[in-house]
Amino acid sequence: MSKVVKAKYTAEAVAGFTHRTAMEEAARCLLCHDAPCSQGCPAGTDPAKFIRSIRFRNVKGAAETIRENNILGGSCARVCPYDKLCEEACSRCGIDKPIEIGKLQRYAVEQEKVFKMKTLEAPAKKKAADIACVGAGPASLACAAELAKAGYKVTVFEKEAKAGGVLTYGITPSRLPQAVVDQDIAQVKGLGVKFEFNKEVKAADLADCDAVFVGTGLWGANLPKIEGTDLDGVYSAVDFLKNARIKKDDFDPGRKVLVVGGGDVAVDCAVTAKLLGADDVKIVYRRTLEEAPGNMTEFHYALSLGIGITTGMAPAAIKGSKKVSAVEFSGFRDKEAKLELSADTIVFATGQTAEDMTEVAPVKVTEKGYIKAPKGKAGAKYFAAGDIVNGGKTVVEAVAAGKEAAASMIAYLEKKGVK
Ligand SMILES: Cc1cc2nc3c(=O)[nH]c(=O)nc-3n(C[C@H](O)[C@H](O)[C@H](O)COP(=O)(O)OP(=O)(O)OC[C@H]3O[C@@H](n4cnc5c(N)ncnc54)[C@H](O)[C@@H]3O)c2cc1C
Ligand code: SF4
Repeated sequence: MSKVVKAKYTAEAVAGFTHRTAMEEAARCLLCHDAPCSQGCPAGTDPAKFIRSIRFRNVKGAAETIRENNILGGSCARVCPYDKLCEEACSRCGIDKPIEIGKLQRYAVEQEKVFKMKTLEAPAKKKAADIACVGAGPASLACAAELAKAGYKVTVFEKEAKAGGVLTYGITPSRLPQAVVDQDIAQVKGLGVKFEFNKEVKAADLADCDAVFVGTGLWGANLPKIEGTDLDGVYSAVDFLKNARIKKDDFDPGRKVLVVGGGDVAVDCAVTAKLLGADDVKIVYRRTLEEAPGNMTEFHYALSLGIGITTGMAPAAIKGSKKVSAVEFSGFRDKEAKLELSADTIVFATGQTAEDMTEVAPVKVTEKGYIKAPKGKAGAKYFAAGDIVNGGKTVVEAVAAGKEAAASMIAYLEKKGVK
């Protein structure tokens, strides 16, 4: 990969606020007494409080509010579906347009780095319990941070070489730069949480722990049952994105790339392929664009890069001898419609499945393999949250559920008399 291509792939696509534009935006806030924006955040990030701080030039206070409530505040500022959460709830929607809460959050967290602010601290005296968190994705990181703040010793075990889960190995860096994820993870490390990488946990490894949190996410491929999925050049979205992140310098996405799906993950795959040098990239979605679950701004960004979008078609067969050469589609609603597109890569961004969780911990699972964990409690000393429980939602929901599981763990340990 040339330096130019690499720079394009890793450069952040959307610019943030400057000091002046942040102050102007914060000045539009009505400082609502009932703060519907804060009620709209699953993780309790409390926009009303941090926007008030920005408005009164207390940027450190703003960063503290964000970090105390949401340890992954920098990442969430980039990838949260604000338009469906806090910004949708904002009182200014009824007047003109909502406050740009996500961009203000990004501004506050960026200042933390500019001024080298240390925002969170954990108690020096540790409680006598050893806690393991399996996986270093958003759910585990949020859970580990809450436990550390309450004085517990926590070790996070991660099978990959770095922390972050989907933040590090999935979402494309043009949307979420690695430096932002690393800044969030540094906060968790700053609380004294230990990390062990390249460690794929099995149930037997956890016998001596006093409590265990499982936040392993969904990493199984979900390929359709059609001819040709075993050919070279066929990827699941998570494998494609992970390869692009891991093999940065020698990953060839192919010249003609087709991405099947209509969510943010499909857009991430298409943008990744384009930024890594593919000549012709198309997204093919079975329903209409209006019905697609992906964010419209992201689709517009994809279009601006020259990525094509075809709707109403579903894959029927993949053609090729050893490697993919073309894909046949048939109409999703109009059964007579047929389409054949040549391709050397096809990526299925059609959801992920659960790996076998009973190998990781003695937990009960649903028919689809998700862990059953009401309020984060999955059995005896076991707790779980995030995608592996909710079937795949958002980062902020994983953070919220990780915090809830930590509260259940603390209640469990206190009941056991841990001091
Ligand atoms: C490509 C993509 C784009 C997305 N875009 C967005 C977005 O824009 N906005 C948004 O809000 N959400 C987005 N999501 C969803 C969001 O990323 C997830 O909901 C969130 O990451 C779930 O967090 P988690 O901690 O449950 O799991 P994950 O992030 O999947 O982390 C789980 C971690 O556990 C590790 N692990 C698994 N098994 C083991 C084991 N046995 N031992 C040790 N470690 C293990 C994995 O390697 C991984 O690091 C996206 C998802 C994908 C796949
Ligand atoms: S709802 Fe909107 S206007 Fe009201 S406090 Fe929150 S951001 Fe400000």
